Amino acid sequence: MELFNLGIIEAIELIDRGEVSPRELLDAIFQRIDNVEDKIKAFVNITRDNAYEMLADTENKRGALKFIPLAIKDNICTRDIPTTCSSKILQNFIPPYESTVTERLRNEGYILVGKTNLDEFAMGSSTENSGFFTTRNPWATDRVPGGSSGGSAASVAAGECLGALGSDTGGSIRQPAAFCGVVGMKPTYGRVSRYGLVAFASSLDQIGPITKTVADAALLLKIISGHDPCDSTSAPVEVPDFTASLSEKISDIRVGIPREYFTEGLHTEVEESVKEAISLLKTMGCQIRDISLPHTGYAVASYYILATSEASSNLARYDGVKYGFRAKGKDLLEMYTETRAMGFGPEVKRRIMLGTYALSAGYYEAFYKKAQQVRTLIKEDFDNAFEEVDIILTPTTPTTAFKIGEKISDPLQMYLNDIFTISVNLAGLPALSLPCGFSKDGLPIGLQLIGRAFDESSILKVAYHYEQSTDWHKRRPSL
Ligand code: GLN
Repeated sequence: MELFNLGIIEAIELIDRGEVSPRELLDAIFQRIDNVEDKIKAFVNITRDNAYEMLADTENKRGALKFIPLAIKDNICTRDIPTTCSSKILQNFIPPYESTVTERLRNEGYILVGKTNLDEFAMGSSTENSGFFTTRNPWATDRVPGGSSGGSAASVAAGECLGALGSDTGGSIRQPAAFCGVVGMKPTYGRVSRYGLVAFASSLDQIGPITKTVADAALLLKIISGHDPCDSTSAPVEVPDFTASLSEKISDIRVGIPREYFTEGLHTEVEESVKEAISLLKTMGCQIRDISLPHTGYAVASYYILATSEASSNLARYDGVKYGFRAKGKDLLEMYTETRAMGFGPEVKRRIMLGTYALSAGYYEAFYKKAQQVRTLIKEDFDNAFEEVDIILTPTTPTTAFKIGEKISDPLQMYLNDIFTISVNLAGLPALSLPCGFSKDGLPIGLQLIGRAFDESSILKVAYHYEQSTDWHKRRPSL
């Protein structure tokens, strides 16, 4: 097997046995990047020199990650390495500090191969909103890789790294993972520190792994999880050994199938693959139950009020004074307005305007407050469902990857892509997407498993058992 096709755990085993050296692995990854990156454009910045310095630096260290080459979404701060959020306004921003997640990966001896492309400030579902360029889906390069962590998902699927980190505010880890045929995990809100993650919507944002296998996701999740005094929303709860519980039996697990997720708009091929996965889990001993999450239909609307409101507040800090780009202006006010007019792209501006409107006096009660009330109802739907079931199973996305350009001029169509992923963020729950099939034209299909708060272990172990009984995760795109 080509080294670039290895998963993280497979590579660690080969390194442990002395069959592959970390340098050979890193060389193979950069060779692969040289061969395919022109077609995929997953990276905003390839950090080759830095990677070889990390290799030399950590050569004697023996962390759990053993020099495994990983990619990091470019909204996660890396000290002395540009972090742009794929926005012109941060094009020349070099963080003076390291995010907690990358600090933890460093302590385990990972190697950063590059920073990956995203929809500007993580606002989007296709990576077409990047202020720089669009990333392509490795399975069909005329199609989107999904978003906003499209660069991370595409780089893993294309073998340009062994795993990656993304961020998920309304589906941005799971949706691109589904479109690119890889595993993506959004942890429980509070499980992973957001220190050093550039804020989009702070009550929804979480960092999580994108990998080729479930076991790799469990490993990375364990490393990046845990309380962090630098993030007051990180939870002081114990981090279980996600890897150790993967092989526990799943025969007593009750799996809920919410009827609201199998309605019009769901592509037939996606529906068929997900239903086959349900049948397989049944033969494996899981108890399948029909359930209802009655407020599902209000999730997209309330998300786009809350996320844009939080974004309008978070993005007020980009004023040309403290960070990145500064435009010229005859006075302070003109400098502010020109900086923001030139620095932000159209989708970011749309969201700042929407959010500012929703929060303004006279409208706040009708929009923001109402959306918060709906959020509570959505969370209660899940609380009620989890009285009867242990995990919930749905499709990750209504369709397979769409064509580049197909939805970019219609924001509502783009927003509807997240219909199956958004409720999870509103409720703060953990969820994972893993491959469960391919369409006739060879595009990956994703299955979503949702768990109780802080019960990532249950969804990981069901995902692991499903993966062990199928071959979807072994397919690789031909590039
Ligand atoms: N697609 C959603 C949005 O545009 C989710 C983005 C995300 O999870 N970062 O807001």
